[in-house]
Amino acid sequence: MRLLEKFKEAEKLLGFAKNCEGVARVELILARDVVVDERVRFQCSHSGCREYGKRFMCPPYVPDVDEFRKLVLKYFMAVILQVEGKTESKDAENEAKRLALLLHEAVYKTEKRAFSSGFHFAAGFIGGPCILCERCPAAAGHGYCVQREKARPSMEAMGIDVFKTCKNAGLEFAFTPGKVVWTGMVLLD
Ligand code: SF4
Repeated sequence: MRLLEKFKEAEKLLGFAKNCEGVARVELILARDVVVDERVRFQCSHSGCREYGKRFMCPPYVPDVDEFRKLVLKYFMAVILQVEGKTESKDAENEAKRLALLLHEAVYKTEKRAFSSGFHFAAGFIGGPCILCERCPAAAGHGYCVQREKARPSMEAMGIDVFKTCKNAGLEFAFTPGKVVWTGMVLLD
């Protein structure tokens, strides 16, 4: 695809992503501005994440950080998507899960649309652990992902510093009590 076409198609994709259910904000970023940092992976493995090793789209089942850093640099740009909502009710955990699944769906659909628009290496990343299945077979220490077609790893599972990457895209946000923001990304090329 020619450079100008890439930008035109990317702009259409932003419109598509923005119209997905639950999506509050979208932005385009150059792939070289996606920040990959080993400390994010270290947090997965050594800062008490309850899902570490329990989901096939989480570490240690995903590529190592160096490998992913090289992969990102082969891409040209990425769409960043954010879903946000209030989690003040008693049912805050279920609401956070519902919003995470909305992001998953939006990332999945945007990746598929990107592929059919000519970005044949389109690759989607969600926010938080893949929760498409209530219980992932990884939790039992054996088996395989049962929804390979739709399962995607999160940005943070790949070692992406989500805050800095969002800042580079002009999408700054902060942790606010009673509010959740899930961020996902689709790499384009
Ligand atoms: S789709 Fe299901 S089996 Fe696959 S990683 Fe997600 S939760 Fe696990």
